[in-house]
Amino acid sequence: MDYEVIENYELKRHTTFKIGGCAKKAFFPHTIEAFCELLKTLDNPTILGGCSNVLISSEGIDGDVILTTKLNKFEFDNNRLYAQCGVKVPMLAKEAAQKSLSGMEFMIGFPGTVGGAVYMNASAHSQFVSDTFIECRVFDLQTKEIWKLNKEEMSFGYRMSLLQEKPYILLDAKFELRPEEKEQISAIMQRNLDFRKDKQPNLTMPNAGSIFRNPPNDSAGRLLEKAGVKGLKEGGARVWLGHANFIINEENATSKDVSYLMNKMYNMVKDKYTIRLVPEVKFIGKKSKEEDELWTTMLEK
Ligand SMILES: Cc1cc2nc3c(=O)[nH]c(=O)nc-3n(C[C@H](O)[C@H](O)[C@H](O)COP(=O)(O)OP(=O)(O)OC[C@H]3O[C@@H](n4cnc5c(N)ncnc54)[C@H](O)[C@@H]3O)c2cc1C
Repeated sequence: MDYEVIENYELKRHTTFKIGGCAKKAFFPHTIEAFCELLKTLDNPTILGGCSNVLISSEGIDGDVILTTKLNKFEFDNNRLYAQCGVKVPMLAKEAAQKSLSGMEFMIGFPGTVGGAVYMNASAHSQFVSDTFIECRVFDLQTKEIWKLNKEEMSFGYRMSLLQEKPYILLDAKFELRPEEKEQISAIMQRNLDFRKDKQPNLTMPNAGSIFRNPPNDSAGRLLEKAGVKGLKEGGARVWLGHANFIINEENATSKDVSYLMNKMYNMVKDKYTIRLVPEVKFIGKKSKEEDELWTTMLEK
């Protein structure tokens, strides 16, 4: 079949946080057909794309992992774009710009894949994945069938999509873009990149993007900064001095270091403002007893 499999695959090689233990088996399908076959036969596999929004346990993941990064085909048809789930979104932003198509400028700034970006309804600079999304195909892990879903059926919201509620795995998606002057698109992308230079750590300081979601009508970064979390450290993990909603892996941090630090940040905002921040980063893999307690508190409704 058309996939590679690697045993005891060290996931920290893949994560933008540079944190994560081993997967017993990591599968890399090359085609959508091979991906579906794996989804049909493996027992409840973990699906990962760019690993840029996850905290993977330093104890690793029990069971099989499928990494989608080789499912990287895409095609333009006039204003429409078809992309498989493993395509890296900054590349899509550049390719769309080359074709004078607007709507993906925001994707230039984060190292996700189409699958992760649709799952999260990723957004930046007032653009959302849902703005250009038309439809997708998903594999239903329960019925083992493939469904086609349109935008209305995807329940998109802020950092929310149907994929977070149902056992659906994104196979591929279609987007509709808007013709625009190439110079205009390039200027927007450059402005987005310049903005990030001051406001976000680049990946030479391993991180997983924003740690907490913004609460309604407020900014998690603002609340965290006022609560005084900047510079706090736990083991090898530190809250970035440039922006209070980022944690950087400064020195061989573990998932436990990051979980403790997140919990400290969460409690400082809760104590000062009685606001319970919700983690944006997803914990994946085996949880130690401490990690389980820390995350249960942070995910309490
Ligand atoms: C430096 C930096 C900057 C960032 N800036 C932004 C930003 O501006 N805006 C923003 O929204 N995000 C940002 N992020 C976070 C992240 O890049 C996005 O959320 C991205 O869309 C996640 O995609 P991924 O492929 O890395 O997902 P992963 O981290 O691999 O996975 C995230 C979740 O999606 C699920 N998933 C992945 N693929 C599939 C699939 N095919 N089907 C079903 N589920 C799937 C995983 O199981 C997991 O639960 C940033 C991250 C970094 C490191």
